[in-house]
Amino acid sequence: MGPVSSDAVNRYLKQTRELFGDELFLEKKAVLSPTGPTINSDYPSDLVKFYEQIHECHNCALGNSRTQFVFGVGDPNASLVLVGEAPGEQEDLKGEPFVGRAGQLLDKILTAIDRSRQKDVYICNVLKCRPPNNRDPFADEVSECEPYLIHQINLIQPKLIVALGRVAGKTLLNVDKPLKSMRGILHDYHGTPLIVTYHPAALLRNPNWKPETWKDFKWIRSIIDA
Ligand code: SF4
Repeated sequence: MGPVSSDAVNRYLKQTRELFGDELFLEKKAVLSPTGPTINSDYPSDLVKFYEQIHECHNCALGNSRTQFVFGVGDPNASLVLVGEAPGEQEDLKGEPFVGRAGQLLDKILTAIDRSRQKDVYICNVLKCRPPNNRDPFADEVSECEPYLIHQINLIQPKLIVALGRVAGKTLLNVDKPLKSMRGILHDYHGTPLIVTYHPAALLRNPNWKPETWKDFKWIRSIIDA
């Protein structure tokens, strides 16, 4: 079959529109909508009620090994949502994401962009419960827990999501890539722009990555300030 001219395409579209009206074109848009984990339409339209609904979840095995369920903290109307992979030991004990030395470093970074965990920022993880020995999340755990994250993001409606670290980035983007090939790109997560940067715990181990992180956060600030 030879190349199709733009005149022929326009003629075909005109005829199709005359036959079927606009409905065909609207239908095509729905087909192109993003796919992903199934969202439960019974989830409440309020973060506090959503916490009350899911905080005793045992949909995966981590519900049996956790100390505390770690829902997320911050401004329910935040422009910026920060997402880590899963709670660590301190988070599991306190029930709050990003505590300890890594959390303190994250707080300093947020202060540098004139934000805080109470002001215009919401912080959470892909998983709400700690994997034993801080291992990476398993695929079945992510598929059970990610709909909770997506609903949180739908309620908050941020301008930007930032995945902290390689594991959070590759899990949210559903790719298996090193962090350096995910950084510096404005990705899409179910309709919300997403940036991947270093995890603050990695910055504690590798302080020479801080200048690159600062570049990322200046970019992040320019997006959420716009
Ligand atoms: S990790 Fe998520 S899906 Fe698994 S038990 Fe905890 S809240 Fe439920």
